[in-house]
Amino acid sequence: MDTARFVRHIASSTNEEAAAKAAAATTDTGGPTIFDKIIAKGIPSSIVYEDENVLAFRDINPQAPVHVLVIPKVRDGLTGLNKAEPRHTEILGQLLYAAKVVAEKEGVANGYRVVINNGAEGCQSVYHLHLHVLGGRQMKWPPG
Ligand code: 5GP
Repeated sequence: MDTARFVRHIASSTNEEAAAKAAAATTDTGGPTIFDKIIAKGIPSSIVYEDENVLAFRDINPQAPVHVLVIPKVRDGLTGLNKAEPRHTEILGQLLYAAKVVAEKEGVANGYRVVINNGAEGCQSVYHLHLHVLGGRQMKWPPG
């Protein structure tokens, strides 16, 4: 690895670690989140897809050329996936289907990743269930 690439690699790992630590410091209080304001259009977001139950908008801090968040418009206790109950199966299916629609709309249908970060160890930072749709670059495995 050349020096400039090595420095960029270290800087991006450090940012990733800092972001992970910051996310791990947040907890599920059940209180309102920034996504409530986005749903209410109280703060602007770049909306990619919307229907009666689901809203999809671009992540403010994109981790790939395409990085869209897909959320339920009504949280109904779904602060995270770990709070899912049988009554949530319909919205969970709608979110996953919306992720597929978003990938098509964004032109990455041939290859993309759908991620749900759950809880502190999963690096969740916003406690309103959301799917990340990431694409437009080669994904790596294992994820960090
Ligand atoms: P998590 O870390 O909980 O899995 O993902 C939360 C995501 O929400 C992060 O990727 C973060 O960049 C994004 N995010 C946080 N605040 C805002 C905001 O105000 N607007 C948008 N569009 N995205 C946000």
